[in-house]
Amino acid sequence: MKIICVGRNYFDHINELKNEKQDSPVLFLKPETSIIQKKQPFFIPDFSNDIQYEVEVLIKINRLGKAISPKFSHKYYNEIGLGIDFTARDLQNKLKKDSLPWEKSKSFDGSALIGNWINKKNIDDINNLEFRLTKNGDIVQKGNTSKMLWDIDELISEISNFFTLKIGDIIFTGTPSGVGRVVENDNLVGYINNNECFSIKIK
Ligand code: ZN
Repeated sequence: MKIICVGRNYFDHINELKNEKQDSPVLFLKPETSIIQKKQPFFIPDFSNDIQYEVEVLIKINRLGKAISPKFSHKYYNEIGLGIDFTARDLQNKLKKDSLPWEKSKSFDGSALIGNWINKKNIDDINNLEFRLTKNGDIVQKGNTSKMLWDIDELISEISNFFTLKIGDIIFTGTPSGVGRVVENDNLVGYINNNECFSIKIK
């Protein structure tokens, strides 16, 4: 399986990092080895002094597809979730400055937290879904899928023009504003509406 991540999908986060809005979504991949195993903590790697959380809505692909039309995108997933795209921001800024690919800062071991899945039948409107992240009990990120620049159907379509989607692939749909640094012993909890999707300790 593979993880396809979307960058710069919320205006407020684009402004926060002083990025430009793109004509099509920014995409990058995380390998299977980036996934944090269930119940495991996040271990801060030696190569960064600025690991940041990015809470994101996730889509799990349930059938094979390529060049999917947006009107058929809804047939390609049954489950949605919430996760964290852990980012070594100091390293990413250096790579960006040198016009180099982001992988070392975004796709390292343990950079993908995947929470529990929710069947989309249990969700009223996938395009108006509230989610939030707390750090040590305080809300640090709050988002709503209605604020995405490219909605879920458009993302699935756009991604499938570049990467054939396979069963089990996961899409990270981008983060809203409020990204920030973690330190040892922080505890991060993510919610969709009021359902807890994950809880993770930083080590
Ligand atoms: Zn992200």
